[in-house]
Amino acid sequence: MQHYFGHIQGKTASIEEGDALRAKQVKRIELNEQVEIAEGERVYLCRCCKLHPLSFGVIAEITETREAPLKLTLAFSLLKGDHNELIVLKGTELGVTRFVPLVSARTVVVPKGKEDNKLLRLRKIAKEGAEQCRRSVIPEVSDYSAFDEVVEKAAGLRLLAYEEAAIHGESILEYALKGESEATLLIGPEGGFTPKEAELAIQNGFHPVSLGKRILRAETAAIAGAATLLLASER
Ligand code: SAH
Repeated sequence: MQHYFGHIQGKTASIEEGDALRAKQVKRIELNEQVEIAEGERVYLCRCCKLHPLSFGVIAEITETREAPLKLTLAFSLLKGDHNELIVLKGTELGVTRFVPLVSARTVVVPKGKEDNKLLRLRKIAKEGAEQCRRSVIPEVSDYSAFDEVVEKAAGLRLLAYEEAAIHGESILEYALKGESEATLLIGPEGGFTPKEAELAIQNGFHPVSLGKRILRAETAAIAGAATLLLASER
């Protein structure tokens, strides 16, 4: 079933112009077809009652939640190539609440501006990913942030995926099973975190955790870490 983020007004619903165009031209929506429309964490079953302009009637609210009990902030150092997009797309499917693209000491790709095209693209990916996997909310992709700032302000349980913890450190699973309602997971860049960064994070209450005994590529680490925490929260 097609899924959109739109606006509900009483017994009628609408979606934005760009989405409406996509619904007609790409998804080939038909008259009387049922779709889901989400607004403000609520999802409604709707029926297409008019094609020009595209409009919907609300049938009923869908009560079961699609969001994980854990509100997870995935703070990942910006990576080269399209790996940032991969993290946002897969993280959205897994249920991440918020992505924070980080600039850390060994980040190779330094952003051009506060809201450059890459960031806008990540937000678009989060929206389309959330539609595809039928989430109730679109995860937030925050502005680029500095490592120190994120380390100080992080929400909930603080976890640092640390390569130096890979073999002898505590497993992320130990924390995943604690049943926390909010957590922040930090993922380093291709070159990893500097010892100074790890120290600063630990001083700020971050627990260094292992994602297994092998060193993963940063994008794998982000996806595997998010999957472990979110799946465990839904037990
Ligand atoms: N170049 C570094 C590895 C960096 S891996 C080295 O050779 O040591 C990139 C990031 O992925 C790390 O900063 C960490 O956040 C995460 N990561 C990868 N494998 C991990 C593991 N086994 N345990 C914990 N974190 C890991």
